Amino acid sequence: MSLQNPSGMAEAKPTTAPATPVSLPAGTPGIRVVPPSVPFRDVMAGASRHEVKVLDHGFIALVDAMPRLVPEGQTADQAIVQAARVSYGEGTKQVSEDRGLIRYLMRHRHSTPFEMVEFKFHVSMPIFIARQWIRHRTANVNEYSARYSIVPDRFYIPTMEAVRRQSASNRQGGEQNFDVSDAAQVKTAEDFLAYVGQVESLYQQYLALTAQGVSREMARIGLPVNVYTEWYWKCDLHNVMRFLSLRLDSHAQLEIREYAAAMLSLIEPLVPMTVEAWRDYEFESMRLTRLEIEAIRRSGAGAGGEGAGAVGDLATSNRREQAEWAAKRSVLGLGEVSLPSPTGG
Ligand SMILES: Cc1cc2nc3c(=O)[nH]c(=O)nc-3n(C[C@H](O)[C@H](O)[C@H](O)COP(=O)(O)OP(=O)(O)OC[C@H]3O[C@@H](n4cnc5c(N)ncnc54)[C@H](O)[C@@H]3O)c2cc1C
Repeated sequence: MSLQNPSGMAEAKPTTAPATPVSLPAGTPGIRVVPPSVPFRDVMAGASRHEVKVLDHGFIALVDAMPRLVPEGQTADQAIVQAARVSYGEGTKQVSEDRGLIRYLMRHRHSTPFEMVEFKFHVSMPIFIARQWIRHRTANVNEYSARYSIVPDRFYIPTMEAVRRQSASNRQGGEQNFDVSDAAQVKTAEDFLAYVGQVESLYQQYLALTAQGVSREMARIGLPVNVYTEWYWKCDLHNVMRFLSLRLDSHAQLEIREYAAAMLSLIEPLVPMTVEAWRDYEFESMRLTRLEIEAIRRSGAGAGGEGAGAVGDLATSNRREQAEWAAKRSVLGLGEVSLPSPTGG
């Protein structure tokens, strides 16, 4: 391993001169300033922000990245490879081999190299989304102060199509839409929208009371959670992927899933190899429990040939676990199972 050149890339014999002359500051005694040996490019193409609109008034904007500059022809994935090679020595230097290294790191949950990449976002979202988002503790956050400033008049009012019914199977879920051909259901959805729309008059009262001298910190407490807030949110790539895994999942609330999808679209062009590996080994992968592995083994599935039976049920009476197993079997093409009735224990 070379300690002077752990990446095994930048200081290899230069073959290309920098595209633009680099003007280095006058030397400070004791500091060795090393010019780049290959031209660099800005991973955000010189832009101040890359922004995606979300919901009715929200947005998520990528405003900075580390690394911001990478050798031409490379992506910010390069910082992961550079850090990993401190562990593994110089190794190989080809881009195709960088991809293999990133995939290896992802498969084996060697996660610290992914912390070498960071993203800073400017986000505007309703307060009820911010409450879910803030639970991701590994980010750095600075939020708009409604003690210091008047809350802007932006409220999330879902469209009729986005109003969901309570899920019968998942207490936290609301994945079923109202049936627009059913007049009673349409009336219920309209009642809901009228209820949410009361924010307009509450906001006017909020403005009036602040004008009459009520402090902003007090006046805001009567506003509902569909009011928009905004913050800067900085997080390393390892924890961004964790955020995405949890908040793109079908169990997450639809509104935060929309932010997560927008976040993914913003970072994917900057770290395409990592996102590809994350999809393959994390997001679109599946974890099998010991009971599920035993169910497959008992059936002889996978052995092929005669004698291989249908994949059996789980050795548990836990209905939720059985339902999860049924869903996995369906994805794996191992056959459908009929779940026990709710009274069946
Ligand atoms: C669908 C869904 C439903 C949810 N429902 C609820 C709910 O009903 N009630 C509720 O309260 N929450 C709920 N949550 C929030 C959830 O419990 C987590 O708090 C949230 O998803 C953040 O996850 P995290 O802790 O992995 O993330 P992070 O806080 O970003 O942590 C990332 C990693 O760092 C570790 N870490 C972070 N901080 C520390 C620390 N101080 N010490 C040691 N390790 C640390 C974590 O263990 C984790 O491995 C829900 C989340 C989802 C996705």
